[in-house]
Amino acid sequence: MSSGAPRGQGQEIRLSRGASLSDFADKINANPGSLVQEMFNLGEMVTATQSCSDDTLLLLGEHLGFDVQIVSPEDEDRALLAQFNIDLDAAVDEDRLVTRPPVVTVMGHVDHGKTKLLDAIRKTNVVAGEAGGITQHIGAYQVVVPHQGEERAITFLDTPGHEAFTAMRARGAQVTDIVILVVAADDGVMPQTVEALNHAKAAEVPIVVAVNKVDKPDANPDKVRQQLTDYGLLAEEYGGDTMFVNVAAKPGTGIDELLEAVLLTADASLELTAPTDGPAQGVVVESHLDKGRGALATVLVQKGTLRAGDSIVAGGAHGRVRAMLDENGKTVAEAEPARPVLVLGLTSVPGAGDTFLAAEDDRTVRQIAEQRQARRRAASFANSRSRATLETLMEQLKEGEKTSLTLVIKGDSSGSVEALEDALFKIEIPDEIQLKVIHRGVGAITESDVNLASASSDSTATIIGFNVRASNKVKDMADRANVEIRYYSVIYQAIEEIEAALKGLLKPEYEEVELGTAEIREVFRSSKIGLIAGCMVRSGLLRRNGKARILRDGVVVAENVTISSLRRFKDDATEVREGFECGLTLSGFGSPQIGDVIETFEMREKPRA
Ligand code: GDP
Repeated sequence: MSSGAPRGQGQEIRLSRGASLSDFADKINANPGSLVQEMFNLGEMVTATQSCSDDTLLLLGEHLGFDVQIVSPEDEDRALLAQFNIDLDAAVDEDRLVTRPPVVTVMGHVDHGKTKLLDAIRKTNVVAGEAGGITQHIGAYQVVVPHQGEERAITFLDTPGHEAFTAMRARGAQVTDIVILVVAADDGVMPQTVEALNHAKAAEVPIVVAVNKVDKPDANPDKVRQQLTDYGLLAEEYGGDTMFVNVAAKPGTGIDELLEAVLLTADASLELTAPTDGPAQGVVVESHLDKGRGALATVLVQKGTLRAGDSIVAGGAHGRVRAMLDENGKTVAEAEPARPVLVLGLTSVPGAGDTFLAAEDDRTVRQIAEQRQARRRAASFANSRSRATLETLMEQLKEGEKTSLTLVIKGDSSGSVEALEDALFKIEIPDEIQLKVIHRGVGAITESDVNLASASSDSTATIIGFNVRASNKVKDMADRANVEIRYYSVIYQAIEEIEAALKGLLKPEYEEVELGTAEIREVFRSSKIGLIAGCMVRSGLLRRNGKARILRDGVVVAENVTISSLRRFKDDATEVREGFECGLTLSGFGSPQIGDVIETFEMREKPRA
């Protein structure tokens, strides 16, 4: 308290996420050194220029009497764009709004048929025949279906799993208008069905239930309807407002009815409109680095029209749209709202869920991208920085133990990498363990990943390859550097194993388990072995070399005693049970008396929760 940092009286100060003590000092007109001193007094060692976690900033604020407001990245981004006269939330005049297709995500339990259903839907496309291209997976596609005498388009996202959905939402990207919840009629509601349902509800997105696999002999579609009533989804035919459609994705039956239900639900509960004029805005659905074509990003246009030649910025990436391809590999010149396209021409790979926008010129998009990159670097540095409290530092020094698991995550797409990272940070781990991701990226595991992993400051990092591999050369290098590489293709498996590893990093905890008690009835002195206690085992058992403590009139008179020899009559015994007499010698306790109680116990490793 003697360092002379100014005290506030609850004044609000706004700090951006990942601010340093220097930034803090600027706001309150203090000397950064004095804040370092304050933090030190609070038990944390932080340098003046290092980027701080939210907790640190709030703690210091509270300590000094300032009301610290941490400005979210979204707010900051708005402020950044405002510098370029861009307002993403600007109201659009009614007369500019045009009806747009709904965007649909298919979710459900593993093996219930999401992939098959997405394939079946793709095949119903009335315009697919004309395209003549080769279908490619770009993370989203659009189908056109006849509906009440009109041709209506529906956009489907086929990014993997629920994590992608939540990861996008976490970044403020609400992309999905409707969720198709797939439930296999031969399996019923399963854990991930419920999880998907909860995600959809949290996002306030209407649900259409596809009761799949009705072709199977053991299918029970009514049971699925019944089960889902428990989760607040009441089928229309039972008087509710959720549409359930029986389908069989494999043979392809019921698909038209399902699409019909999607359009009916969209028309009934949503007003899907967007302006088609003006510069394009939207969201990155998927992205990856292609050997030949460079950074590729599938974007979903949400407002305006994207055209080849536009200058765009997507997250921290920018560039000029060199070409746009649809899901049939066909070049498209323009993309209107709800149209997913693969964009070529970005200088780097943006992240799934990043927003993109087209701007006037190359310079603007470059500046926006650069400022975002700088900010992200600061923020991610803040996140990965360990909270080096004096205590933990000392502990680590003293025990030399491992208290963090450091990872490098590489994956086949930005969506999967993010989903994995997101899920990993949701694992509940004790405070003394730290999970750090020092690098994440799209593409094969490279030499530079191994370098980074082995150079990691506190412990060698493990490299996680999600659907990507390391070349033999890289593998050799990793072996030499003692860097472990683990491959996964299923997110759940990766999470399970990493969770296990995190728990394995914990020191085992031992608990005392009582084995038995004995009462000393006689004490002899032997010239060879010293004092021998003649005992009666009262409960449980006594073991040779077992640990014990001695109680006299209920008071512990000796701890850390060992039963150094144990005999029944003239024979050595390894253990003696309740109700039997025995003779024993004790090491660590030199004055046994008649009436003393020997309590024996052992230390067992406690299983972790
Ligand atoms: P996902 O994990 O939800 O993507 O499930 P998949 O689409 O991979 O399907 C899982 C398994 O169920 C595959 O073996 C499919 O062939 C099978 N399957 C999917 N839909 C149907 C269906 O309508 N009828 C039958 N009989 N099998 C199906």
